[in-house]
Amino acid sequence: MTDYPYAGRFEVHRRLPEEGRPPVEILAELREMAAGEDALWETGKASGTIYCGDHDHYAFMTETYGLFGHANALQRDMFPSATKFEGEILAMTFDLMHAGAVTGTTPGGVVTTGGTGSILHAMLAYRDAAARHRGVTRPNIVKPETAHPAFDKAGHLFGIEVRRAPADPRTTLVDAGAVAGLIDADTIAVIGSAGNYGYGTIDPIAELSELALARGVGLHVDACLGGFILPFGEELGLDVPVFDFRLPGVTSISADTHKYGYGLKGTSTLLFRDSGLRNELYFLNAGWSGGKYLSPGIEGSRSGGLLAATWAGMVKLGRSGYRRHAERIFATARQMIDAVRSHPELRVLGDPTFLFSFTSDEFDIYHVYDFMAGRGWRLNGQQYPNAVHMAVTRPQTRPGVAETFAADLAAAVRYAAEREAAGEKPMSGAVYGGVPGGLTEEADDFIRQIMAGMLDTQQSLPPAAR
Ligand SMILES: *Cc1c(COP(=O)(O)O)cnc(C)c1O
Repeated sequence: MTDYPYAGRFEVHRRLPEEGRPPVEILAELREMAAGEDALWETGKASGTIYCGDHDHYAFMTETYGLFGHANALQRDMFPSATKFEGEILAMTFDLMHAGAVTGTTPGGVVTTGGTGSILHAMLAYRDAAARHRGVTRPNIVKPETAHPAFDKAGHLFGIEVRRAPADPRTTLVDAGAVAGLIDADTIAVIGSAGNYGYGTIDPIAELSELALARGVGLHVDACLGGFILPFGEELGLDVPVFDFRLPGVTSISADTHKYGYGLKGTSTLLFRDSGLRNELYFLNAGWSGGKYLSPGIEGSRSGGLLAATWAGMVKLGRSGYRRHAERIFATARQMIDAVRSHPELRVLGDPTFLFSFTSDEFDIYHVYDFMAGRGWRLNGQQYPNAVHMAVTRPQTRPGVAETFAADLAAAVRYAAEREAAGEKPMSGAVYGGVPGGLTEEADDFIRQIMAGMLDTQQSLPPAAR
């Protein structure tokens, strides 16, 4: 992790400057930082992270943000536009997820701050509904081992036991039989991913749907990653299994507008088949001296700007825009997956579409990671088994990127075979986010050090406090 590249370049503010600085000077500094940081992904060599990469689209959304960035979406009497934006973001996403197939209940959703926000809100709603209607006091959820750590975070925050169901090592998909074996009277929901972050593969959601119905538990589909690309894959005729509200056991779906929705960072959607479940999230403190306080979910004040920008970005792209981008992303991913498959030393995990992961049975795959890093690629490291993955986004669809990937990969395979033969160990390790080091959960000191560096306390606290 690069630490403080700006320390020597720009003034470090350890306290508010007595006199404010000229805006032109501030803007010049920020432009310099942004240009340098954008250059890292403009090459198309960074996995995921930058889903859109189109500066015109960003500029358009930023302009719409600017009109409402100062508006508090909590105060709808003053900012009724937030109701239009949030309601229509949800309606458009419900439509993508085929909520038209829902009968007997009225769907309802909420816009949150990101995928983690959507998952946290979903788990909280299941917990409180199960307590209210089923008297569950020691709730548990069953998640595929491959499902996102945000579910573990929800367990940690909300006192929910997280049971992990194994994935088939060959397909990377959760074993529905194992899920069934983990459900008991205190299970509030089971989880399936469409697709999962590690492998981009889609759990057997139809099977999980049958299971959830039979056992009377909720089924949350984590489509944070796939929600805004897989539906277009289906329209394009790709082999995408149904994972949305067309399956009667699916009770909620998370889909991130800030990933393949191409929005600015900071929004995601959480959709419930039954708005009654959504309503569990409502909070009211009627007795506060500051007045009656109510909010729809975990957050208090929220920016109207993010709702405006997300709405505007979606409406500007339209279905055809999303479909066009999806088509190029799927084609590029296919090209890159083919490049991996052309090497008998490499093995693609499962049957991916827009994000792929690969390992090797012949050498340590982190030799490939190391070599690719040296060529400017920022792949993501994985463990159990060690593997590397690439989430294909729009920057990879630029001319020449997939070809460069194939050429660099061929050289990386040769390098890895040589290093393995020489008995050398790779420099990189496996940790979510690709930070080298072979981190384990016990390494408390290490995580504290990394987080402290990220939050920049050493750098920016006043000298006396250090
Ligand atoms: C990114 C992701 C999340 C978490 O979303 P954040 O926006 O990073 O909070 C959850 N699930 C999947 C499958 C994801 O890819």
